[in-house]
Amino acid sequence: MTRASITLDAGLYDYLLDVSLREPDVLRRLRGETAGRSNAEMQIAPEQGQFMALLLRLIGARRTLELGIFTGYSSTATALALPEEGVVVACDTNEEYAATAGRWWREAGVEDKIDLRLGPALETLDALLAGGEAGAFDFAFIDADKANISRYFDRCLRLVRPGGLIAVDNTLWSGRVADPRETDEDTQALRAFNAAVRDDARVDLSLVPIGDGLTLARVRADGGRVPVG
Ligand code: CA
Repeated sequence: MTRASITLDAGLYDYLLDVSLREPDVLRRLRGETAGRSNAEMQIAPEQGQFMALLLRLIGARRTLELGIFTGYSSTATALALPEEGVVVACDTNEEYAATAGRWWREAGVEDKIDLRLGPALETLDALLAGGEAGAFDFAFIDADKANISRYFDRCLRLVRPGGLIAVDNTLWSGRVADPRETDEDTQALRAFNAAVRDDARVDLSLVPIGDGLTLARVRADGGRVPVG
């Protein structure tokens, strides 16, 4: 039995991209511009964007949530994968990110699919729930501040329909989650989330070692009445 996922050194990673990446030109240019930022590592990897687009098409997603838009790569990739009537409710607190992402949404021709909500994501999610939007989303991508990750997940579990999917980014956190010397708040929040979701019978689960670790949680129709494991 193979014990671990294959290690991608630079040469193999380049090969993977060479034989599988179908990055639209607008996303390639977006990625190139963002690479000049000091915090460019906040952008998802291009093969991750393509993987998420595949998942969206597999589940027939029409309405999605995104928490943490940064410069717009994942929301643009998402919007491009949705049908014409699709909607991405995009949450962020940073006006500069929103302006940059907005430029790329227009460039990609998907601005009509984006419903930008500037403000703390927890407030936006609670307002959606209060507005009767429970179960109204097919997909949620959680990629905002890590301290609130379990709170975001809790809200998304109610907003995403049974059979829908929640994707949580950075759950391997550059390996820090597995290093007991790392005790900062974000690492501890991710560890607590990872341990809790393992035992959460409300979802089917896979932690995919793509990018910085992407946890996929499918909302189960039985609400967790059937135990896992
Ligand atoms: Ca991320």
